[in-house]
Amino acid sequence: MSKPVQAKRSSGPSPAVMTTYGRQDVVFEKGEGSWLVSTAGDRYLDCASGVAVNALGHAHPKLIAALTEQAAKVWHTSNLYRISGQERLAERLVETTFADKVFFCNSGAEACEGAIKVARRCQFVNGHPERVRIITFKGSFHGRTLAALAAAGNEKYLEGFGPPAEGFDHIELGDLAAVEKAIGPTTAAIMIEPVQGEGGVRTVPVEHLRALRALCDKHGLLLVLDEVQTGMGRTGKLFAHEWADIEPDVMAVAKGLGGGFPIGAILATEAAAKGMTPGTHGSTFGGNPLATAVGNAVLDAVLEPGFLEAVAQKGLALRQGLARLKDQFPHAVEEVRGQGLLTGLKLKPPAGDVVKACFDEKLLTVSAGENVLRVLPPLNISDEDLREVVNRVSRALASLPKST
Ligand SMILES: *Cc1c(COP(=O)(O)O)cnc(C)c1O
Repeated sequence: MSKPVQAKRSSGPSPAVMTTYGRQDVVFEKGEGSWLVSTAGDRYLDCASGVAVNALGHAHPKLIAALTEQAAKVWHTSNLYRISGQERLAERLVETTFADKVFFCNSGAEACEGAIKVARRCQFVNGHPERVRIITFKGSFHGRTLAALAAAGNEKYLEGFGPPAEGFDHIELGDLAAVEKAIGPTTAAIMIEPVQGEGGVRTVPVEHLRALRALCDKHGLLLVLDEVQTGMGRTGKLFAHEWADIEPDVMAVAKGLGGGFPIGAILATEAAAKGMTPGTHGSTFGGNPLATAVGNAVLDAVLEPGFLEAVAQKGLALRQGLARLKDQFPHAVEEVRGQGLLTGLKLKPPAGDVVKACFDEKLLTVSAGENVLRVLPPLNISDEDLREVVNRVSRALASLPKST
């Protein structure tokens, strides 16, 4: 089959890239802290943060140093050999969390899939091979691989991709009675995001998380937390479940972990990871020297005294600023949501229109479910830049046509 000759393009996204995204027509060539500079020379204030990835903004000197120093030594060896940066990052994550064991992968979807494997395998080695089903929640997002899509159960994302992977029971978020009813002899685990990010910045109340923990204990299930978006300080704690004073058995982490370098991780207790013996799981790239060098540098910054407290304070200031906009623009803003710097504005006009209006004000944001605008600044954004975020959202809202 010969290829059709492609018409010469003067501008716009290249058709050579599979069109799975509706992209903004902008290319960034440089980043500085909370700012991105486009090839046209325009400066954008970045509250997309690569979708909650650039936890320390752009071009952080310590991250650059970590990456370039490692790049000059060795990039990749595979997991057939020991990797000192990986061992160090694992030990530090074990020291600072509930976990005893860490497995490194490359993305959030892989971390979620791996977490599901850990949970099922744990039941298996404990004499319950029948316990394979995972209770998950409507509106959740766990990534785009086949099992992660089946776990979330979003029809829109599953359409056309064949039969969804078996073994997931989808419950309405917050319906504890329905969760208890769904638990049966073949249930292995409950999997939940402490704050649904893609779902619309829907915070799960701490009492609810505690009740799920109690249900897991009562029925011999594993509690699996997807902290891919909420983790690494995004909510003002290293991990969001700390707000509820509970501990999961298994946790998926990615996004902020590498501050922009692709890395994910599965964290588990010793008991939960019991079945993960040699040969049960693997990843060619997972936890390679480059990724873990950067991961260690991100952790250095996030664990600095006062860093997480500052995230919580900045989050509060941002939500206060956005709450003033709710008063000022009642026709546009319905609710201010979030925890720490995982912030959302539930809107009346289409969120996509507001993302566009913000973009025109040179402010990058991300839309989410339930018609929510996500405002996700780098965790180290300055107070001055944070005030500018509110100014720009204000100008964007003022620029909308007043239909109601
Ligand atoms: C982004 C996200 C994922 C998927 O991460 P990828 O790196 O895109 O695979 C999974 N879970 C949650 C909660 C996320 O926000």
